[in-house]
Amino acid sequence: MVARSSEFSMIARFFAPLAGEGAYGLTDDAATVRVPAGHELVVTADTVIEGVHFLPNDRPQAVAQKALRVNLSDLAAKGAAPMGYLLALSLGRKQGDAWLREFAHGLALDQKTFGILLIGGDTTATPGPLTITITAFGAVRRGRMIRRAGAKEGDLIFVSGTVGDAGAGLEVLRYKHPRLAAKHRAALTARYRTPTPRLALGRALQGIATAAIDVSDGLIADLGHIAENAKGGAFVIDAARIPLSPAFRAAHGTSDAAIARAAISGDDYEIAFTARPSARARVLAAAKRARTPVTEIGHVEEGRGVYLMGSKGRALPTGRGGFTHF
Ligand code: ADP
Ligand code: MG
Repeated sequence: MVARSSEFSMIARFFAPLAGEGAYGLTDDAATVRVPAGHELVVTADTVIEGVHFLPNDRPQAVAQKALRVNLSDLAAKGAAPMGYLLALSLGRKQGDAWLREFAHGLALDQKTFGILLIGGDTTATPGPLTITITAFGAVRRGRMIRRAGAKEGDLIFVSGTVGDAGAGLEVLRYKHPRLAAKHRAALTARYRTPTPRLALGRALQGIATAAIDVSDGLIADLGHIAENAKGGAFVIDAARIPLSPAFRAAHGTSDAAIARAAISGDDYEIAFTARPSARARVLAAAKRARTPVTEIGHVEEGRGVYLMGSKGRALPTGRGGFTHF
């Protein structure tokens, strides 16, 4: 058995120090949230499960950061400024006070980095795997949330950063790529373990992007969600333009098959979005302001679906486009 405080002293010791305004030190039944005038809340929830979204031996600090960051990534894609979050913890048998201390430390670090505060949650024990559900909320000016819906024929398609890294990072953690240079292995596993929510970019894209989504399941699958929510249009992606990191190239090369792999691999938490061709310069200026690399990778034309065009001018096979739980 691991040493574990009672539920209430656990909350008081590890989580109350992280609490923000309206949380009442985590001593009440619920919290209150003040919405800035002229704004509305953007609310999102994500669950991470041991053995599904992180590995059983991952450090508690990294687990905390991933749980929070996948939520921040949703806020980022919607152009929202982070405010607060709720933390629902279902602790497995192995998580005691030592684990909780390091977990809370990870949250504290990211709260500072991203400007978000804990306002409540729930703590339970489970006979199953450690499960963490975070509900995060942020603010946007009323009516300004960037939707998945809104892409139109003629739009350009963009993605931030590089894709495929987190998937390759998971392969490294599973002992693939044994001959890959240590710096590349480190870069890839870091992308899997601690994604970077593109908050500055998302906010900069308000009023510019016609639709946006964060890339959690895979670029093709997630663009598919934008496509499904659009009135019409075939999303045509040029494989040669998909941004790949040096580490990914070192692991997989740059063949059509390698690019297709990057385009259907999940967990990168980049932002994929569309914009009118007339907004191209504004997109690039927003990317610069946000200090976030952005690449134009394709366009929307007449038709339906998402197509990844390879070097031979034919659409590459992309299966279901990314990760699915069911
Ligand atoms: P209830 O009896 O309604 O489930 P709890 O006793 O679980 O309430 O919670 C007491 C307080 O502690 C509440 O303010 C709740 O938001 C907070 N809390 C409980 N668990 C957590 C957690 N894991 N993280 C943050 N706050 C928590
Ligand atoms: Mg409770």
